[in-house]
Amino acid sequence: MVKDISGNSFVEVNISIIKQNLKVLKEFLPTNGKQMAVVKANAYGHGAVEVARAIEKQVAWFAVNDVEEGIELREVGISNPILVFGVPTAETAPTYKNHDLTATVSSLSHFRLLNPGTDYHLNFDTGMGRLGLVQDEITQTQKAIQNYSELRCTGIYSHFATADNPGSEKAEEQLVRFKSICQNFEPEILTHMANTGGTAFYPEAHFDMVRNGIGIYGYAPGSTEIEGLVPAIRWQSHLVQVKQISKGETVSYGARWKAPENGFVGTIPMGYEEGIPRLLTGNMEVAINQQRYTVVGTVTMNYIMVFLGSSDIPAEGEPVELLGSRAMTADQWAANTQTIPYEIVTGISCRVPRIYKRD
Ligand SMILES: *Cc1c(COP(=O)(O)O)cnc(C)c1O
Repeated sequence: MVKDISGNSFVEVNISIIKQNLKVLKEFLPTNGKQMAVVKANAYGHGAVEVARAIEKQVAWFAVNDVEEGIELREVGISNPILVFGVPTAETAPTYKNHDLTATVSSLSHFRLLNPGTDYHLNFDTGMGRLGLVQDEITQTQKAIQNYSELRCTGIYSHFATADNPGSEKAEEQLVRFKSICQNFEPEILTHMANTGGTAFYPEAHFDMVRNGIGIYGYAPGSTEIEGLVPAIRWQSHLVQVKQISKGETVSYGARWKAPENGFVGTIPMGYEEGIPRLLTGNMEVAINQQRYTVVGTVTMNYIMVFLGSSDIPAEGEPVELLGSRAMTADQWAANTQTIPYEIVTGISCRVPRIYKRD
């Protein structure tokens, strides 16, 4: 259920910015370098179907976390190859073949699950410590590739734990390990390792293809900026109520904020249910017209309040920018709440309508 909060609150996704961000990342690659667009988690909250449709000609591959996300893309006619990062199960195994999704084999047990005719990529754990075959399993993996000849091994990959900033020794170690693992497999299969950080900061990790997630939505993965990336979303709401407040009166739960003077308070119908972290309490500004206003009092489930001062008071119904170039960005929200932009953008509720801007 997508709710229509007075029809006046939405996340605007700028498709041309996404396309431009892809180009910025492509600049790091050699001329024949391929891009895989990572559109898991509903394209990091941006809308997987709309994003994939907009960039299907611009990228070689798409990646998702589970088969359902892959099926969603197939059902709207996306024909690029799609890699599923997650693990196959007895229930999901047939869907790979039926929807032409490429599976990930990250455990020896996955070979016997997959149905004849399924394509797969091998995933080796070189130091992420999450999913993947380990170096000691190389020989058994080679045997399984032979034994399960009705499956098709079309790629090999690994995932960085620390590529979000340049100069990581751990990332270099993972790279060395991955290169030595790859030597045991057919050289013509597609080889890939770099996420956004690997793309920008570790040119040795580009191989045949890079996997770009956060960068295409406009954020660097860590504290090191990637020049040219621009956030693709603008979250807009409105003032649902404006009212007077006297000096000394308090706003919101816990009565933690006291009006410093007589003035006006505006209420905005978006809160932590919609994806504004409660930890932004005391740390957040929004934009109304060209001006920034401080959010006052605790962030509540479905509302935040702003102090509007005592002159030039914006009217009820006035648009309010929560995230965007005039307000704060998801990077700044993340910095103020000890998290990363990934969590901010994937945390915007799917009940907030997404609208798409294409110029
Ligand atoms: C999410 C993910 C990516 C994308 O990472 P970004 O930092 O968003 O570019 C790449 N590879 C794997 C295996 C992932 O899970």
